[in-house]
Amino acid sequence: MSRLGAGIRFRTLLEDEVIEDTLRQHSFEAAEKWLQEVCWRRYWKGWLEAHPQVWRDWRRRIRSLRQTLPPVILARAEAVCAAGSGVACMDGIASELTRTGYLHNHARMWWASFWIHVEQLPWELGADFFYRHLLDADPASNTLSWRWVAGLQTPGKSYLVRLSNIEKYAPGYLEGKQAGSECLADGAVRASLLQPPAGLERRPPPLYPTFSAPSAARLGMWLHADDLHPESGPLAGLAPATIAGCISEHVYRTTYRLSQTRIDSLRTVLRDGLERAAAHYGCSSLVLDAEDPVEGLCAWANAHKLSEVVAFAPFVGPIDDMLPRVRHRFAAAGIRLTLLRRPSDEVAFSFATAGFFPFWQKMSRHLKLSCQS
Ligand SMILES: Cc1cc2nc3c(=O)[nH]c(=O)nc-3n(C[C@H](O)[C@H](O)[C@H](O)COP(=O)(O)OP(=O)(O)OC[C@H]3O[C@@H](n4cnc5c(N)ncnc54)[C@H](O)[C@@H]3O)c2cc1C
Repeated sequence: MSRLGAGIRFRTLLEDEVIEDTLRQHSFEAAEKWLQEVCWRRYWKGWLEAHPQVWRDWRRRIRSLRQTLPPVILARAEAVCAAGSGVACMDGIASELTRTGYLHNHARMWWASFWIHVEQLPWELGADFFYRHLLDADPASNTLSWRWVAGLQTPGKSYLVRLSNIEKYAPGYLEGKQAGSECLADGAVRASLLQPPAGLERRPPPLYPTFSAPSAARLGMWLHADDLHPESGPLAGLAPATIAGCISEHVYRTTYRLSQTRIDSLRTVLRDGLERAAAHYGCSSLVLDAEDPVEGLCAWANAHKLSEVVAFAPFVGPIDDMLPRVRHRFAAAGIRLTLLRRPSDEVAFSFATAGFFPFWQKMSRHLKLSCQS
């Protein structure tokens, strides 16, 4: 447990940096397990780029379940999130999440399995609880890990929580918290058999340029939470006149119902990215706090008389969902929008066409070749 997740998720720390540093100090073979972990996120992201409907269906289902589930089930779901399930060790995990915004990977797996296979609650609402509180909440890692625990990501393979596992890896969760744990006894938890939704198709992931051509335009840079490290990669050599990043407490509260701690951390991390970017490019930067982030961005671009705005291409998730409106509004104002992707993302995503292990075969070969050159 490194607790690097929130840094890597927002790219205040890059996977590429972590990998390079690791390989400077250790052989590939000695570090392989760790390198695999660091690369899981990119695998999930690459997979979701090719299956964006999984993210969109999840968001739609949260809304529809809240409106259509019987009140007694919604009340049970709320009680379990509020650490009131009656299974003390699982309640400890739920309160740790709301208190700290962090859970070890094992605790995430156990609690998700408890929610789906013991409580038999809809996975979509459990994933939403994590998304609202985890400081490293990531559309791909969260949605797809929950689907994996549910047995939807690798059909027929669900993850079942076992008391002996908690005793072995994290006995602290059970100290003074044995109440109700009989339901987790080995062999007691049976998989809820969920039907994978029909019609899941792989689309060719969108291709974005990985380098920028010099431009004579009056350039602005839009910095967003999918990558807050413009001083490295394809944006590094540009000369923006101004940089902006957008926060919308209104959207975070109403659409995503994020916890206050999560909103505060998004603001902090965006400010950090903007300050570093301003120092790197030697220009002004500002946080736009707008009820409608698309309108906020357009107002900023117009106020600075920009003819082009450049940004990292967002990954499937909330920022990508805004893109059609951003494109439309910029086009109407005669502003060109240029989206770029890091070459290392493009390479990793091209390997994420099936399961993690075929991905890792290609990725590990690529990493070994890059560290030789
Ligand atoms: C149900 C469930 C939900 C999850 N939701 C998220 C989420 O919203 N955001 C998120 O970043 N991770 C999520 N994970 C994956 C993983 O649990 C976290 O990345 C990890 O626990 C973060 O803690 P750490 O930084 O101490 O990780 P470490 O164990 O120290 O790992 C180092 C880094 O490797 C990456 N990593 C390791 N394991 C995974 C994994 N299985 N999937 C993706 N990346 C991984 C992360 O970037 C992590 O910071 C989820 C896992 C499960 C089972």
